[in-house]
Amino acid sequence: MTNTMQAAMVEAFGQPLVIRQWDIPTPGPGQILVKTEACGVCHTDLHAMRGDWPLKPALPFIPGHEGIGLVVALGEGVTSVKEGERVGVPWLYSACGHCEHCLAAWETVCGEAQFGGYTKNGGFAEYILADPNYVAHIPAGLSAVEAAPIICAGVTTYKGIKETGARPGEWIAISGVGGLGHLAVQYAIAMGLRVCAVDIDDGKLAHATRLGAEAVVNAKKADPAEAVRLATDGGAHGVLITAPSLIAFQQGVAMTRKRGTCVLVGLPPGEFPTPLFDVVANCITIRGSFVGTRQDMAEALAFAASGKVKADIELQPLSAINTVFERLEKGDVPSRVVIDFSHAAG
Ligand code: NAD
Ligand code: ZN
Ligand code: ZN
Repeated sequence: MTNTMQAAMVEAFGQPLVIRQWDIPTPGPGQILVKTEACGVCHTDLHAMRGDWPLKPALPFIPGHEGIGLVVALGEGVTSVKEGERVGVPWLYSACGHCEHCLAAWETVCGEAQFGGYTKNGGFAEYILADPNYVAHIPAGLSAVEAAPIICAGVTTYKGIKETGARPGEWIAISGVGGLGHLAVQYAIAMGLRVCAVDIDDGKLAHATRLGAEAVVNAKKADPAEAVRLATDGGAHGVLITAPSLIAFQQGVAMTRKRGTCVLVGLPPGEFPTPLFDVVANCITIRGSFVGTRQDMAEALAFAASGKVKADIELQPLSAINTVFERLEKGDVPSRVVIDFSHAAG
């Protein structure tokens, strides 16, 4: 093993990533080193590169929080994983383990949480340092490229659907059927829900239909809230908004059925107006949802391992990362791009 690796780094916000040789990190006590096999490209990586959010990562950093690989070295004291195991290094990179949220198994909102590919270097590199207590354990039978989108897009939408409280036989409206949304459609169906998919791209909607959505709505062509209310006979019991677009949030609240829950998952920077009278008089719940806990992760991966959920993947080399970002920004990625490291040097 040489002691440098290839990594794609954000050196300045809003600028293309720079691919350079970087030192392979050494795992300290309690850490592990993972040799990357695959890493999905999430729209969050684009927000990170642009510096879109109030909490900004320190520059330079390596994005990527859908990294899957094999454990190649253990730091002192690590016993929970072994060399050779396949793990994922997710957005929830680590948490304190002791605060009120960690104790309640809500480690996703731990105030000391670290984020993979954001506050810690991520998977757009040939090696990743990880915390063995928070890695995803990839079930046998799931390849690295298949697992990659599950550890962010999958777990986030699976958890978000649970947070809608929608029950089997009820309707869920999924706004945005890209990387997150195309998995959300599959999780929702596997969970017994009826799906109405909303997007602004007919190709994405055709894909949602192929995946089993019973109704589709192009938000550019019709008033999407009215169209969803019509398709679902009064509004969706659960609404999951994955679209990185503020208008989709306002529309999502309006497509929620009386007493239903609208779960916000997309993270465009900014705010959206909320019609108080409608929300109050219709007893609507609006709720944020942030990735998922380790237990949610295990459940989300189990759906994939059993074949009920399968990400649609386009493989690309790390050298294509800036083109992938440009396409993602324009909505030109059909589902999920996964960076394939299997042919990379090092
Ligand atoms: P993506 O680019 O793959 O997909 C976005 C989809 O939204 C596309 O299909 C696009 O056509 C569609 N869209 C755009 N505008 C729309 C509109 N007005 N109405 C309906 N659909 C619209 O992105 P992704 O990787 O799926 O990520 C989506 C968002 O989710 C990003 O903001 C990302 O940061 C966020 N995210 C949040 C969490 C979380 O934990 N809450 C986790 C992962 C990603
Ligand atoms: Zn993500
Ligand atoms: Zn904590």
